[in-house]
Amino acid sequence: MATSFEERDSAKAEKNEFVIVAHRGASGYLPEHSLESTTLAYAQGPDFIEQDVVITKDNVPVVLHDIHLETVSNVEMVFPTRHRSDGRYYARDFTLSELKTLALHERADSDGKQVFKARYSGTKAHFTIATLYEHFELISELNREFGQHIGVYPEVKSPAFHLNEGVDASKIVIDALLEYGFGGDSGNSFLQCFDFTEVKRIRSELDYKGKIVMLIGENSWKESGTDYDWLRSEEGMRVVAQYADGVGPWLGHVLDGKAMKQGEIKLASWLTHVYANNLTIHPYTYRHDALPAGMTGEALLQTLKKVVKADGVFTDQVPPVKEWRKND
Ligand code: CA
Repeated sequence: MATSFEERDSAKAEKNEFVIVAHRGASGYLPEHSLESTTLAYAQGPDFIEQDVVITKDNVPVVLHDIHLETVSNVEMVFPTRHRSDGRYYARDFTLSELKTLALHERADSDGKQVFKARYSGTKAHFTIATLYEHFELISELNREFGQHIGVYPEVKSPAFHLNEGVDASKIVIDALLEYGFGGDSGNSFLQCFDFTEVKRIRSELDYKGKIVMLIGENSWKESGTDYDWLRSEEGMRVVAQYADGVGPWLGHVLDGKAMKQGEIKLASWLTHVYANNLTIHPYTYRHDALPAGMTGEALLQTLKKVVKADGVFTDQVPPVKEWRKND
């Protein structure tokens, strides 16, 4: 049922929630999704730590942002011939023990250049691919040892690709969430996916009871078969709300880009449909080293909280967001 903006605001004020999601671990400082990156993120004290999940040849869930390996590892040096006809190296074509021999590095573009220049540039420390179980165990154990309740925020990557490969990635992720006590309606987690067909399947066919976030991208990214323009319509958001608890839009979808270029801050109009369906909003991604042009980090966070009425944010850098939240 729809609630007024005032009711929504006061409910949020009571809970005092603007959650911080450590995007791919502490990816602003260490190679994304390594256990070291997750450990550092944990120490920085976010509310949730994110895991992107793809499935290996031997059906093990591993934490990697892409179904391809070459942008974050030395796969082309270790297994030069193991690419598909498109020239790309798929995690799905390697067993876990093969993947464990690879070294992770900072994300590189197609020319092999580091995407975020000021980030980790060392070459000697050996960072490796880790399983979803390793990540969940690490966070669970640290929670127990420190008496903390940091949650997990796994994303099922390219579910249609995986189903086509004969493997149900969502089922594997849900089983891991439940095994480590993060899943279900009382679990401290959000399960996220870009594919609306899969979000529906997770809720209905797989009967998953935990919190789900529908990620929203641009149709041009070809992230899935989902029509994100329709998804952001009045009807789209109403249907999404039947299956998901929240939405994860990118920054360009929550602030009006045209207005921003003129130095003005204007809310993207489709957000009214999000509010009308009382969906949680967790936009991605706050990057302290790649802020929108002409905006300070504090201004962006303030805008997300006060104008967008976001409930939290994904960030590559937890410390500046925590600092802002403390003083807000
Ligand atoms: Ca993700």
